Amino acid sequence: MKWVVSPPDTPKPIPYQARMEKMNTPGTEPCKQCGNCCREGGPALHVEDLEIIRSGHGPDLVHIVTLRKGEHVYDQLTHRFEPLKSEILKLRGSQGTWACTFYSNEAAMCTIYDQRPAECRALDCQAPEKLMEVYSHERIARTDLIPDGHPLLELMDEHDRQCPAEEIGRLATPAATGDEEAAAKLEHMIRYDDEIRKLVPERTGLDAESMDFFFGRPARTLLRQFATAVNLEKGGKMVFRKIPKGS
Ligand code: SF4
Repeated sequence: MKWVVSPPDTPKPIPYQARMEKMNTPGTEPCKQCGNCCREGGPALHVEDLEIIRSGHGPDLVHIVTLRKGEHVYDQLTHRFEPLKSEILKLRGSQGTWACTFYSNEAAMCTIYDQRPAECRALDCQAPEKLMEVYSHERIARTDLIPDGHPLLELMDEHDRQCPAEEIGRLATPAATGDEEAAAKLEHMIRYDDEIRKLVPERTGLDAESMDFFFGRPARTLLRQFATAVNLEKGGKMVFRKIPKGS
């Protein structure tokens, strides 16, 4: 089963018993190891996480997905889908779900336990206010992990200008319901986005898995938030359609 995408130097998971002993500190309820929090989605990343990311022993860029400004995301605290006011970085999901890429279903444990991010450290089912406190700490953005002057920064800015997440959301339904101008604009964005994700790994040698960090989730993926799918017609033209409820 291929689901954990860990760097070769990721430490081995801590055995269950040792984890329980670590967590059973006086005055706290032990974690029941149910894994629900990890299966519901990986954490957003905060300033406290910069050190573990830079150390090379925690999450790498291939494990991080950027959720760009304007994307609709589910807030685990408010339990609502809301557009982001600014971008956030989050540990990516596995196998097309949001279940954290570092959670092992087979072992029922976190595979980077000692390097887990701040939100994971704060999560306590018995005391959710601890997570609320971490939530309010400063979240990091792509520029916190890319050195000043890096040539990709300019390309990332250009990508944000050409394919803004808000605009994809605004055009999705009109494009799928007969608005040809909206469909043409959306097609241009998707082609641009597809091309960037293909060319950058080819020309830089960067891992294709890291493109979701540099450019956020693919435009095609964002369309699904608006119940819209894209197909290629004969002749290569893109056609947008609404996805029926429940499919
Ligand atoms: S990093 Fe570890 S503790 Fe945090 S959500 Fe992922 S699997 Fe769970």
